Parts: sequence; structure tokens; C-alpha cells
Amino acid sequence: MDFAAELRNAGLRATQPRLAALAFIAEKGHCTVDDVRDHVRAKIGSVSVQAVYDIVHILTEKRILREVRPVGLPTMYEIETCDNHHHIVCRICRKIENVPCAVGYRPCLQASTTYGYVIDEAEVVYWGVCPGCGG
Ligand SMILES: [Zn+2]
Ligand SMILES: [Zn+2]
Ligand SMILES: [Zn+2]
Repeated sequence: MDFAAELRNAGLRATQPRLAALAFIAEKGHCTVDDVRDHVRAKIGSVSVQAVYDIVHILTEKRILREVRPVGLPTMYEIETCDNHHHIVCRICRKIENVPCAVGYRPCLQASTTYGYVIDEAEVVYWGVCPGCGG
């Protein structure tokens, strides 16, 4: 993926910290801000937590990153692939995996009552116990 081009298409400068963050998130998937900061620091030297927050927020706003927020877990970021995939989370070790949407388009669950709202998304998180934790 050409992140420099993607940043420029979104009207952003392709700075080193942004590129380092994107490359890392693309490789690792589901990263916390702390994960990203540690990596960017190791890669290009000192970077503040605030700078990393700014990076992930602007990239999420531009829909280059997707925010993943299962209840009770730190917010994570992954490359936005617009595939509407869901997540499965281990209740014990908090390991997280992608699960392709069974339906493939939003919203994948039909609400029994809409109150006249135009619904464009159903947030689905599967919770369970992973094989490593004896599931
Ligand atoms: Zn587990
Ligand atoms: Zn994911
Ligand atoms: Zn779905």
C-alpha cells in the first residue's frame, strides 16, 4: 500500500511519523496508541504521546485508519479497509481477530424497530475464549 500517496490524497503531508505509524499498524493490525508510540520512537526517535494521538485521530478522521473499541479494552487502530469486518475478542487474554461480515454490507443486522432512523451500522463484537486460553 502506498501510504505516502494516500496521505497526499487526503490532503495531508506524508511526514515520517505518519508513515512509520501507518507501516506499523498495517503490519501488526489492532494497535493501541502506546504500541504505535513505542514503534515510532524506536524507528525515528522521540515522539510525544500527544503527537501520536494527533496522528491516529487525523488518520481516523480521513478514514485511513479505523478505530476499534471493544468495551473494556483500550482503543485500537487498524488500516481502514472498508470491508465492514467485525471483531472477535478473547475474554481472558484480550486477543482480537478479524471476522469477515457474514452479510457483507451495512447494517448487517436488521433492527426490529428503527423509530424512523436511517440505520447505517450495527456494531458487532463477538466475545469468547480463544484456543490458547482453553476455549
Ligand atoms: Zn485468550
Ligand atoms: Zn480489525
Ligand atoms: Zn456483519
